[in-house]
Amino acid sequence: MYKIPARWVQAGKTYPVYAKNRPTPARASHSGGCQDDSPIYNRDVCAEPQKSPLAVFNDDVVRCQKCARLRVYCESIAYSKRRAYSDWIYWAKPVPSFGDERASVLILGLAPGAHGSNRTGRPFTGDGSGDFLYPVLHATGFASQARSVSRSDGMQLRGCWISAVVRCAPPDNKPRPEELTNCAPHLDREIALLPNLRVIVCLGRVAFDAFLRHLKRVGQLEKRRYRFAHGAEYELAGGRHLLASFHPSLQNTSTRKLSQAMLLEIFERARAIVPRWAPEAGSEGERRAVTA
Ligand code: SF4
Repeated sequence: MYKIPARWVQAGKTYPVYAKNRPTPARASHSGGCQDDSPIYNRDVCAEPQKSPLAVFNDDVVRCQKCARLRVYCESIAYSKRRAYSDWIYWAKPVPSFGDERASVLILGLAPGAHGSNRTGRPFTGDGSGDFLYPVLHATGFASQARSVSRSDGMQLRGCWISAVVRCAPPDNKPRPEELTNCAPHLDREIALLPNLRVIVCLGRVAFDAFLRHLKRVGQLEKRRYRFAHGAEYELAGGRHLLASFHPSLQNTSTRKLSQAMLLEIFERARAIVPRWAPEAGSEGERRAVTA
């Protein structure tokens, strides 16, 4: 039997733990299950600030393995790579959402790009769609910079949160219906964790339809006709607004089906609905409008 050296106990050090007794990542994340009287948690770890519910949510997304086809595809892309990114270690896991946890605007995309988000690990980062979207978010005050190239590029979002209806890159950017269904509970959980939402911007028809199914699941789909069109806007229960836009995919932007001016109009409309917010000095979580 392993005996803890007396000098360690006196010094208050962490007890060594056999591999089989190590906490799983879920427990180590302190998602509400911290057992600080257990010898496997030391005082220093328990003193760390608790993760926010959205950070725990993102951790759970990254560990998700529900769609075998997509998981295999993402990892195979990470192995074969694109020549231009041969020196990258691809993310190759489900892509977590990104943004301001107090967001009033949700941007809902389709799925990670095989060599974009699947490489960088952040939505709309490192591919043509992001090169098109982020300058617009920057111009409308939602993003701190116009270029999004990696998770460590310093980008910060303010008042918006970016997610997708499928969080693993699908072959040909086409998720199967069962994969959309598998990923739907993530969206339901995430939206419940964003209480300040006022505007939902759906990028593309697939995201638009997936958001309507979310409304149906949570019993908030009103009996009316919803039609996807660029610039379509619907007022939802609770004063929320649903805005529809073409997706900024290369297919749409290279054919000029979607221009940057068209996308800018969508986010200017979102900006008109929600004022700019800034945290109240000295009281985290409270907000005040700085401009209308
Ligand atoms: S697409 Fe969604 S449900 Fe499927 S493995 Fe990825 S995160 Fe999980």
